Amino acid sequence: MPGQLEIYIRLGLFGGVLLVMATWEFLGPRRKLSAAKGPRWASNLTLVALNTIVSRVIMPITAVAAAIYCESHSWGLLHLVNWPVWLEVMMGVVVLDFAIYLQHVLFHAVPVLWRLHLVHHADLDIDVTTGLRFHTFEILLSALLKLAVVVILGPSALTVVIFEVLLNATSMFNHSNVVLPSWLDRILRCFVVTPDMHRVHHSVIRRETNSNYGFNLPWWDFLLGTYRDQPIEGHEGMTIGLSHLREEQQVDRLPGMLKLPFDRSSGTDPENRYSDGK
Ligand SMILES: [Zn+2]
Ligand SMILES: [Zn+2]
Repeated sequence: MPGQLEIYIRLGLFGGVLLVMATWEFLGPRRKLSAAKGPRWASNLTLVALNTIVSRVIMPITAVAAAIYCESHSWGLLHLVNWPVWLEVMMGVVVLDFAIYLQHVLFHAVPVLWRLHLVHHADLDIDVTTGLRFHTFEILLSALLKLAVVVILGPSALTVVIFEVLLNATSMFNHSNVVLPSWLDRILRCFVVTPDMHRVHHSVIRRETNSNYGFNLPWWDFLLGTYRDQPIEGHEGMTIGLSHLREEQQVDRLPGMLKLPFDRSSGTDPENRYSDGK
């Protein structure tokens, strides 16, 4: 059954990438973690499970099901052209990735959206589980946006599955606390967001937080002027998280994480949310 096969492929790749990156982090960590790893991991991974269940229950249709519906009704821009399958898949993945980049910029710029997205940024450390840690409401909004893009663009179901699996895997990869030789980072960074590149985005320094928005392809940051090469204080010296939210119970335990968007101390203005003013 294609539906079940899709779930097995997703779960298998999710578990595989998580295991590989977690082992890599254990063998060669880039930074010393500052918060207790056990409770952090338990909270981040429970949030993933909660998000998966809530999305399945609340969302009326998945992006893949929407793509199948659009295919059968010839909806979407890609149905106006007659390109080879590989080109349509590539175009679909690139456009979906650009939409996710724009969504990420929007979640930093609009105060009410920032309140949801700060749950991702409030993590006191950055490792493979940070790449999966998003507030449930952000996941639902993101799913709605993806549905809209699928309906407008009309990519095949295969394209949507490839994109979602790729985004999930690259998000785990680029949040990982791993060491890559700098020459390899340089080469990889031309095609995919690397851990060193995305770590800059998790700095407490505002101009660094508001850079490197890409999750998968790095090109949008290069092209749109939001790219920052390295953190000013270096990867070992930089502080991860948000400067005004440093309490483990509040930012790295599930109940606190879920309440964070509604907490007065979280702040609403993405431009003035740091006391250091940098
Ligand atoms: Zn962000
Ligand atoms: Zn991130």
